[in-house]
Amino acid sequence: MPYNCVVLIKQVPDTKRLTGRAMNDDGTVNRGALPAIFNPEDLNALELALQIKEYFGGTVTVITMGPPAASEVLRDSLYRGADDAILISDRRCAASDTLATSYILSCAVKKLDYDIVLCGRQAIDGDTAQVGPQLAEKLGITQITYVQELIELKDKTVIARRNIGNGWQQVKAKLPILLTVIGEANEPRAAAAKRLMKYKKARTQLEVAAALADENPQATGTEVKKLAALADNRCKELEKKGLLIKLWDLDFLGPDFNWCGRDGSPTKVHRIQSVVLEAKESKEVEPTPDGIAAMVHELIEEHTIG
Ligand SMILES: Cc1cc2nc3c(=O)[nH]c(=O)nc-3n(C[C@H](O)[C@H](O)[C@H](O)COP(=O)(O)OP(=O)(O)OC[C@H]3O[C@@H](n4cnc5c(N)ncnc54)[C@H](O)[C@@H]3O)c2cc1C
Repeated sequence: MPYNCVVLIKQVPDTKRLTGRAMNDDGTVNRGALPAIFNPEDLNALELALQIKEYFGGTVTVITMGPPAASEVLRDSLYRGADDAILISDRRCAASDTLATSYILSCAVKKLDYDIVLCGRQAIDGDTAQVGPQLAEKLGITQITYVQELIELKDKTVIARRNIGNGWQQVKAKLPILLTVIGEANEPRAAAAKRLMKYKKARTQLEVAAALADENPQATGTEVKKLAALADNRCKELEKKGLLIKLWDLDFLGPDFNWCGRDGSPTKVHRIQSVVLEAKESKEVEPTPDGIAAMVHELIEEHTIG
């Protein structure tokens, strides 16, 4: 039986490859100093969806909510094997916390015909691991979090193994279902050369318009109108070739605006503080069995280990 999979992916700053100051003076993240990458566990979610498609048939649709540049991770997904890609980009999404993000994503997923929704367990920037579970709640479907292995997928039932830290748990559930996938689940495949050659020209309508604006920086008045018409034509050409990445805005999704952006975000950031941990006190331990035994004894006494 074929399964339609929807994979939620996020473009995140690569916190391991700093190219400047990580924080601005006002305490916000200096995104310019951090190259943008595919959130690692979302690659595992995509890989699992691609394996399901290969084994059972069906489709893989990827969705990301983010700025226009986030279409980079959508193209990457097309290179790896996704069938369809959707960018949700709208200024009214800005300042969304996890509750608003998962609400907007739920409006998008509801527009699709799906059996399995897959998310990474956690994004490496926000780090909350809340979006997957909140999304399942808003879709009104069962969720299995921390998925390490899909043991069985048969008709409308799935059996999955969850990694619960100090062991594992095998659970059975009915579809439709949302899975959050961990890094140990699989080894994400690389981009396929043929697909890369095909989809490297895939663009969203925003990218087409931005490229034309860059090529014509002096355009004013009627020229701007002409550029808009040209952008429309280029998008139609791309669509014919299956290279137009879908762009959904909030008008298309039709959400309750009270649940989107700043208005829909109960999380209020009171203060951002950069915490630098410094070792103020240090103690020398004799590198002898007695010295080490004394240190371990002390740590047990202090309940640091036990
Ligand atoms: C008050 C406040 C304001 C904020 N304002 C902004 C803002 O203006 N711009 C901004 O970019 N962020 C903003 N954020 C951060 C934003 O809320 C989080 O990035 C987002 O909700 C995801 O949370 P997370 O990173 O903890 O993801 P997690 O919950 O750790 O992610 C789990 C999984 O959910 C899926 N997922 C998460 N986010 C997305 C997404 N955007 N698209 C598709 N799938 C996704 C992925 O599969 C991911 O692996 C704000 C946060 C707060 C608290």
